[in-house]
Amino acid sequence: MISKVLIANRGEIALRIIAACREAGLATVAVHSEADRNSLHVRLADEAVCIGPPYANASYLNITAVISAAEITGADAIHPGYGFLAENAHFAEVVGECGMTWIGPPPEAIRLMGDKATARRTVAARGVPVLPGSQEPLTSREEAVKLATEIGFPVILKASAGGGGKGMRVARDARELRHAFDTARHEAERAFGVADVYLEKYLTAPRHIEVQVIADTRGKVVALGERECSIQRRHQKLIEEAPSPVVDETLRTAMCEAATAAAAAVGYASAGTVEFLYEDGHFYFMEMNTRIQVEHPVTEAVTGVDLVLEQLRVAAGNPLSLRRRPRIQGHAIEFRVNAEDPESFAPSPGEITELALPGGPGVRVDTHIYRGYRVPPYYDSLLAKLIVHGRDRAEAITRGRRALSMFLVEGVKTSIPLHLRIVDDPDFQAGRLSTQFMERFLKPS
Ligand code: ADP
Repeated sequence: MISKVLIANRGEIALRIIAACREAGLATVAVHSEADRNSLHVRLADEAVCIGPPYANASYLNITAVISAAEITGADAIHPGYGFLAENAHFAEVVGECGMTWIGPPPEAIRLMGDKATARRTVAARGVPVLPGSQEPLTSREEAVKLATEIGFPVILKASAGGGGKGMRVARDARELRHAFDTARHEAERAFGVADVYLEKYLTAPRHIEVQVIADTRGKVVALGERECSIQRRHQKLIEEAPSPVVDETLRTAMCEAATAAAAAVGYASAGTVEFLYEDGHFYFMEMNTRIQVEHPVTEAVTGVDLVLEQLRVAAGNPLSLRRRPRIQGHAIEFRVNAEDPESFAPSPGEITELALPGGPGVRVDTHIYRGYRVPPYYDSLLAKLIVHGRDRAEAITRGRRALSMFLVEGVKTSIPLHLRIVDDPDFQAGRLSTQFMERFLKPS
């Protein structure tokens, strides 16, 4: 049983978790840095504890401070949200050792999926398709060249411990690969403390399609269909939608079965996402994110399932509220509203001097901002998520355009003008998407 949940996060996701806890009748504890004193999650939680200075290393990533806050307030469970400590297996273990419930997957599942080379090997052994590539981290440049010649260029080097696009390098020939091998290892070492890299076939214009899963602690895993997240810039997702315009029921079933098998392979529980690359009718496992994701609301919109509420249920040892894959209803699109210049993408912190949020049929806004709120420069730039839902993709796009045009933020620059341009793009409207979409879109014509 759980009665009081500490939320080890900030911003919109902290509010999202407070909302689910309140519906479940659970008390909430917010933690915050000195820079977040005036944040909405601090005001709306039942209790709040300051855990340190602005920089995340000293506050939101400070395990001792977070655990102390839980002990002082008598919280019996911790929800990590996304980012920060969400995929830290050590933290998940410490929470358990302190006698509290971790609202997330077992630490061992986080660890197995956190090492990408291991994850690839583990799911491939269960019959989940992966791109041709190395089974183990590469030991030398010449081994890399030999393997790449066998599977054919281009190839991509990735850090085993990777994330956030760091340590990834594409190579088109042997010469590029020799050079990329050293830079990728160096970058991986610096970013993650582990130099290990592996290699796989590089697809030139794939789609990023991921499957949401939720599992209970009794071995039941349910897939909730896919999300297409091909619209990204520098591996950061900008727009996500469900369902994918290219996935039919046959492909959906195959992808959901692969995702379920990947989750089962590591004894998964809680919410998770299995990411695939898709090209020409085929899909390949990329990685599993062992947490709730930013884009989870599009799946909630088309399935009617509250994913955070399900996380709370299964963490308390209860079975899932659903037994099988829900039917997909209509189409949902999420636009990430970031505090950044829509042209240069430079961060734009500062005070929100005016704010009007869109509403009406099929519109959901997940946000922590309010008029007078100061966007601090220390954290990521996500201000709000606008999620629109329609009976079909065309209706969702129309609602998206309407809601974006009625979303007023003053004082900081936002990505809203960029989204308004994307919704009018003929390729976007036709669903002709790939991970190269933004590169083409931003190219001066
Ligand atoms: P990270 O965990 O660092 O975000 P991922 O493995 O999830 O790295 O890859 C991030 C993005 O990189 C993908 O969404 C895709 O755009 C691109 N990518 C990764 N692997 C490949 C590949 N084999 N071929 C083409 N693009 C790839």
